[in-house]
Formats: sequence, structure tokens, C-alpha cells
Amino acid sequence: MGLIYTKHQEKILKKIEIESDISKWKDWKWQVRNAVRSIEAFEHLTGIRFSEEEKESLKITQGKFPLSITPYYLSLIKKDNYKNDPVFKQSFLDNRELIVSSSEMGDPLSEDHDSPVPGITHRYPDRVLFLVSNVCAMYCRHCTRKRKVGDVDSIPDKSQILQGIEYIRKTPQIRDVLLSGGDPFLLSDDYLDWILTELRTIPHVQVIRIGTRTPVVLPYRITDELVNMLKKHHPIWINTHFNHPREVTTSAKESLAKLADAGIPLGNQSVLLADVNDCPRVMKELVHKLVMNRVRPYYLYQCDLSEGLSHFRTPIGKGIEIMESLIGHTSGFAVPTYVIDAPGGGGKIPVMPNYIISWSTNKVILRNYEGVITSYQEPDKYEKTLCDRDCENCNLELQLNDGEEMDAIGIEKLLADYDDTISLVPQNNERYERRQELYETNKL
Ligand SMILES: *Cc1c(COP(=O)(O)O)cnc(C)c1O
Repeated sequence: MGLIYTKHQEKILKKIEIESDISKWKDWKWQVRNAVRSIEAFEHLTGIRFSEEEKESLKITQGKFPLSITPYYLSLIKKDNYKNDPVFKQSFLDNRELIVSSSEMGDPLSEDHDSPVPGITHRYPDRVLFLVSNVCAMYCRHCTRKRKVGDVDSIPDKSQILQGIEYIRKTPQIRDVLLSGGDPFLLSDDYLDWILTELRTIPHVQVIRIGTRTPVVLPYRITDELVNMLKKHHPIWINTHFNHPREVTTSAKESLAKLADAGIPLGNQSVLLADVNDCPRVMKELVHKLVMNRVRPYYLYQCDLSEGLSHFRTPIGKGIEIMESLIGHTSGFAVPTYVIDAPGGGGKIPVMPNYIISWSTNKVILRNYEGVITSYQEPDKYEKTLCDRDCENCNLELQLNDGEEMDAIGIEKLLADYDDTISLVPQNNERYERRQELYETNKL
């Protein structure tokens, strides 16, 4: 293992410890214990100073959402230009967090409404979000779960986790469980091993996913012991959260290599953040660095309507501009899907530039990334087979040996032959309510 240790990091270490000792720096528990949790500690370790006035208001911000920055992540801040620093902006208090605009909400994604038991959000038919921890090594200032994360009153205890596991056990549709939080990797190896072992006793759980930002803010958490434990529970997939190319350091790369070498497919979820990564070139650099480290860019999120995030939000147009600059311009597997998590709990909605320009019965007109407009000739003959979902007698030979088949949901319903639905109508559609009235008064 190389010397993953810079002069700057050594300086910070010396300020915390009497004797500088690299093994301490690389000990993740030391990093968590010595995380910067006060403005004074931040000033001491970085040499950045705030006025008394500034400190007063920063403390109010801190009262609303806690401060925690690992010495490692702190060491990535460039002091000379800290106000523009992407690491500083993601991790240090900003008084604009106190501004709550009228469209912002505590729980914009209605995760609590789709929650059958505490800690579980069951939004999609076959997968659940399972919050197993509510602490993080570093509290991202742009956190969408600010209402919950870091709050000591909502730490999930063992009985709550058991309740979640029981819900998954008695719900056979769930084939994919997504552990998140907080950061699941702030739990001990043993505790996480226990959760994974329990989940693995459930036959219908095919895939377990873990969402963690530790490769970014606490790369030393990815130890050989952790990785060996995870390997026992395959298939395990991991999604991490890099937002800026500056975060892909030697230590971060090492942690990613460990995970990838353990056979864990790695994905990355970035959040589009104003003044941090809202630039096509920054994003392209980031996705290239990710794929070089065997991480597949998975999602690029539009910033949610959570309280106090207005200074981080960009127009959706910025995201589409970034997608325009990636699709076709770089490797397909380096391009994430740009998604907007629908306020109110509709789930993730993918958004892209338009590539279909026009359409007739026999031709589709498309454009490519260069602006070349092309036409695709539809087949003269395409035998439309009626699908009545009699899969046993279908020549496509789908083997339906396990699992219940589910009915069509949503738009799929409109496309299906075996469903008579011709339109999806919102429940509060006034026009339909008027029709219903006419119907009830026998005028129709
Ligand atoms: C994002 C999310 C998932 C997983 O969605 P994928 O598109 O499968 O990655 C599941 N449940 C909830 C509540 C989510 O927010």
C-alpha cells in the first residue's frame, strides 16, 4: 500500500494528536471520533476564520442540521479559495440553509406516507428502501433527509430493524432491498452482518443494495474485514455518492478497488448542485474518473424540494444541458440517468433531451447528438400478436417457474392487450366529476 497521506493531512493530524501517526489517520473510527463538529474546531484545523457575527448565525444553522466533517474530507478543502470549494460547500454550514421557500417541504418525497413500518419506504412494486442508520460521518448540506438524519430521536433500534425485516419477510413481491440511512457503513461490521444474514434467510430477497457515501468522505471505512463480510452475502450492489472530480482521491480510489475486487458492482448517484457541479465539463470529468475506477454512473438527481436547499437548486434545464453534453459524446456506460424524484412520492422520473423529432405511420425521424437528422424506416410487416398473458403457450418461452405475475401498473396498463383501461384519470379531475354527476342524475 502506497503512502496515502499528504503534507496537508499530516498537518491536520498533528493538530489533533500530539504525535503524528499515519495508522491513526487511516483508522476509520479515529476519523469518526475526531470529526469536526464545531465551528471552532473547523477554524482551528483549517486556519479559516469567521467573524463573531458570522459565527452567531452559523450556530443557528448548526442547530437546525448538525455539522460533521471527517478530518479526511476536511483535508480536501483548499483554504485559499474555500468559498468556491466544492468540498467546503457540500460539508460546511451555510446560513442560506435557514431560508425555507414556499415550495419546500420537510418530507418532499413523502417517504413517511409510503411507510408500512418505521424505517421502510415501499414505493415501487418489487423493492423497498430500508433506513437502518441515521448517522453519517459527514452531513451533506444538501441532504434530502435533513428532517431525519442526525436526529438522535429517530435512531433505528434493533426492534425497529426487526420490524422492517419482518415486513420484508411477509411481503413476497420484494426482491430488492436497499439499505440506506444515514449511512449503513457507520454501523459496525457485526451489526451489518446480522442485518444481512437475516435478510439472506428470506428466499424472495434476490438482491441487496447498500447506499453509502463512505468511499467519498471516509474511504478508510472500506476495510478488508468489511469487504470479506459483505462477500458472504452476495449479490450485494453498492451505490456511492461522488459529486465532484476532486473527491476522487487516491484513498477514495483504493476503497473503490477493494469493493470492486470483492465482486461488488458499483454505481454512483450524484446530485446536481448549483455552484458545485452544475457544469457539463465538471460532470464529464467526474463520470470519466468514476468509470476508470469501475464505478458506473447510475443516477444524476435533480436537487429535491427539501427545506433549506434553495441555494443548491438549479433549473431542470441545466440537467438536460448536461445530459446533452454526455449522451453520444462519451461512453454509454459513463452516462447516468438524469432523474427528478417526484414531490409527493411519485418516485423517480427520468428526463432527457428529445431525440424523436417526428413520426409517421412508416417512418420515425430522429436526431443524434451532433444534430444530424435521420429517418428510420418502420418494418413493412410486423405481425402483431395479441398478448393475453398466456405465457405458458407463448412461443417466446418465458419460464415462469417462480414468483407471482403482477398485473400491469400505470402506463403499462394502457399499452397492454390484456387490460381494458383506456385512460388513466387523476382522482380529482373536475371534468370526470361533472360526468359522474350527470350520470348520477340520469342525464347521461
Ligand atoms: C430510489 C428509490 C428506490 C430504488 O429505485 P431504483 O430506480 O430501483 O434505483 C426504491 N425505493 C425508493 C423509495 C426510492 O427512493
